[in-house]
Amino acid sequence: MSASPPPTEPVAVVTARGEDRIRGGHPWVYRADVVKARAAGGDTVVVRSPRGRPLGRALYSDRSQIALRMLTAGEAPAALDLWRARLASAIALRRALDIDATACRLVHGEGDLLPSCIVDQYGDYLVVQALSQGADRMLPALVGLLEEQLHPAGILARHDVKARELEGLDSAVQALAGSVPPLVTVREGRIEHEVDLWHGQKTGLFLDQRENRAAARAYARGRLLDCFSYHGAFALQLADRCDRVVALDVSEDAVARIAINAARNGIATIEARAANAFDALRDMERARERFDTIVLDPPAFAKNKAAVERARAGYKEINLRAMKLLAPGGTLVTCSCSYHVDEAAFGQIVYEASVDARARMAVMEKRMQARDHPVVLGVPETYYLKCFIMRKLA
Ligand code: SAH
Repeated sequence: MSASPPPTEPVAVVTARGEDRIRGGHPWVYRADVVKARAAGGDTVVVRSPRGRPLGRALYSDRSQIALRMLTAGEAPAALDLWRARLASAIALRRALDIDATACRLVHGEGDLLPSCIVDQYGDYLVVQALSQGADRMLPALVGLLEEQLHPAGILARHDVKARELEGLDSAVQALAGSVPPLVTVREGRIEHEVDLWHGQKTGLFLDQRENRAAARAYARGRLLDCFSYHGAFALQLADRCDRVVALDVSEDAVARIAINAARNGIATIEARAANAFDALRDMERARERFDTIVLDPPAFAKNKAAVERARAGYKEINLRAMKLLAPGGTLVTCSCSYHVDEAAFGQIVYEASVDARARMAVMEKRMQARDHPVVLGVPETYYLKCFIMRKLA
């Protein structure tokens, strides 16, 4: 027998369009599709159709454009046991992937049916991000479940992110359990990284590129250029296949870390340079330099829809120059982590770059973010990272 929720349970009523989205399996309902809400920001609410039918339970936000993030369908409850079971299956998925690294993403929000919750593992430590009011409300419970299931030495909140600002939440970086040292050592394949979980970009490492680095390694040879290198993760992973490596990043701090990482791993062939990649690519093209392998892993040029046109120009320029710098038979590994530039659009930009560069490129692999960052069918927002591996035909 399905009991109807007690009258005190918070409720949100959605429009017919909102109902259609939910029935289509999309976890988000925008504010414009919420007719009325009897709830406070952060509540878990019962979602009802315009006719009053229960559509499921969701995390409610009174600030962001995404008002509802669905947790369950129909009359199913969304109590702590649901969170416990979903966390356990997220962890089980990572264990089944047999990841050759001591750092990975354990919970990828909507991709693990734990909306707006991120948990990354770095050895004995965990980094969490609660990216909505509802996730923030659940955070103490989530920390308890993480301790129960993983027994970490420390759990750090990296709440210094824009998404929390949009939700009206604080931006504190703080240990929520145990203690977290300034640097943590993790391994990815044969490479060791010293990671600053407190201040590093993202939660310390670009975990989403792990499988793309491993894939790129199979093609790497000769002279390698790693643009937008950050702490050198691609350069370090590919170095043993190459004769010489140039790793570029605009940040002096990042470049210093590339050198430290190279020394730590006993790699002497990496030259780390602080430079704006746009300038450096142009200068190297003028100087008629040649590379056999080039990696382009820029930051998201399009952070929103309005920025897409400028982003297209940026992606096209770096790809065009890289294709010119590439020796015949060489490999280009080109990435975009802008959700607003989808795979088809990115393919078109890269194609246009090849026409202008007069380079014939063969696509060897079209890749995505690593499998510990699951992409959900029908939820395009979960697919953000594109990585094409291409060979320049002689
Ligand atoms: N490839 C890295 C991640 C790169 S993140 C990895 O696998 O870990 C993007 C990097 O680009 C950041 O480190 C940022 O400092 C750098 N960056 C941003 N704009 C740049 C520019 N114009 N030229 C060079 N580097 C830039």
